Amino acid sequence: MSNSYTPPAAGDRAGPFAIPTGLLIGDSWIEPAGGKRIDILDPSTGGTLTSVADGGVADGIAAIDAASAAAAGWAATPPRKRAEILLACYRAMMDEQEWLAQLISLENGKAISDARGEVAYAAEFFRWYAEEAVRINGEFALSPSGANRILVQYQPIGIALLITPWNFPAAMATRKIAPALAAGCTCILKPAEETPLTAMAVAEIMRRAGVPAGVVNLVNTSDPAAVCRAILHDPRVRKLSFTGSTEVGRLLLREAADTVISSSMELGGNAPFLVFDDADLDDVIEGAMVAKMRNAGEACTAANRFYVQRGIHDRFVAKLSERMGAMKVGPGINGDTQCGAMINQASIDKIEWLVSDATSRGAEIRLGGKAVDGPGYFYPPSVLANVQPGSEILSTEVFGPVAAVIPFDDPEEAIALANATEYGLAAYVYSGDLAKALRVAERIECGMVAVNRGLVSDAAAPFGGVKQSGLGREGSHHGLIEYCEAKYIAVSW
Ligand code: NAD
Repeated sequence: MSNSYTPPAAGDRAGPFAIPTGLLIGDSWIEPAGGKRIDILDPSTGGTLTSVADGGVADGIAAIDAASAAAAGWAATPPRKRAEILLACYRAMMDEQEWLAQLISLENGKAISDARGEVAYAAEFFRWYAEEAVRINGEFALSPSGANRILVQYQPIGIALLITPWNFPAAMATRKIAPALAAGCTCILKPAEETPLTAMAVAEIMRRAGVPAGVVNLVNTSDPAAVCRAILHDPRVRKLSFTGSTEVGRLLLREAADTVISSSMELGGNAPFLVFDDADLDDVIEGAMVAKMRNAGEACTAANRFYVQRGIHDRFVAKLSERMGAMKVGPGINGDTQCGAMINQASIDKIEWLVSDATSRGAEIRLGGKAVDGPGYFYPPSVLANVQPGSEILSTEVFGPVAAVIPFDDPEEAIALANATEYGLAAYVYSGDLAKALRVAERIECGMVAVNRGLVSDAAAPFGGVKQSGLGREGSHHGLIEYCEAKYIAVSW
């Protein structure tokens, strides 16, 4: 048995269980072969929450052994049974919702309201894929020559390595684990080293809910490059699903090339938020608050660049500054916090660099614009107006609560500006003319567009990017197919 961490009790629920802080290999939580542990920090205080296992290459290989031993049995488990286990995971996670949300707030720093939203979103992937597990339909056709029948069956692709970021430590894990299990694959989860406690809690909930030994394994490590390289070079592993930065995504695609591993990539974003003169300002502000401030801006879908038509521009800047300025900044765990801590000092440094670059090129600070003194890593909601072309903040994800606003006159100009990025994940369009908004949405180079709303994420919808924002889709039926191979059988009868 490994060490454990018991988060603070939440509300009047029975209370959290002791989260094992080792590595989940097969049916047990173990300490890493090298005996190392690493500290987990609380971004709201800069203090240490606890320590967790720090695995190495040998542990990664042990996880493949366990996933491999369980693979045939799980692939042969009837879809209905896999569905029931996933549904049990959904229910178990919702039962633990409140303390899980508090745990996310503690190790990630996000506001408790954001954390509650994340737990519900994360659990929904279990429910959605419980429903999908029994709908993995094949195809059947007569060959055009008439000579034979074409039979196509979707088989589990094999052992999957799932690598997740720190900004949604529960949802990014379940968005991968649930479709992998629904498809009949076993997996190894490699959580972000900043937030492994949430992943450990989710894995333990799944184990208790009846997921068989070896189907889900978890290896935390402070040396992800070495551990993931070893895993990706083992021929038993057939799938890589990664969510994180574009830079690390490129490195992993190179690693995966050596063994020709199927790769799904959910990478960085640089979302434009387009507001046309004919939009309803109150609706726009509601949407902008969600698109910018959910998770304090630490979201790949976060609006990074607000392009606002001249006729509504000044009112938009004033109202957005007023709303963002009224937000309560503080430790995520406090009930009234609306904008929690950033993940670490490096994050604050990056925001400060982007803001000072923008102001040195002529942007005006309308709100905030300066980090809050510690302890903890806080940056206040900030609005920059008249951000000039060439400013770094227009091409680099700020990943924080800073809205960069740029006026425009001509819709064609706005579309060109929106597309002037190597990224293509999410975009937002606001207009009172739905046909116009849809025409614009069709021309934005990205995987997802929110029209007259500030949120795109939905377990039932295909989530993913184009250009350097990624490859493949998560969520919906598309997310399931990423874990399947189409097996074609030519039949004569
Ligand atoms: P990151 O790329 O630094 O880390 C992501 C994961 O990759 C972590 O688990 C990390 O340990 C691991 N990693 C780092 N180097 C590695 C290596 N050489 N080999 C193997 N694994 C390695 O990203 P982050 O800072 O944790 O997350 C923020 C980024 O994630 C942002 O760019 C954000 O846009 C992106 N993101 C994208 C989505 C999406 O769905 N497209 C969702 C959330 C976050």
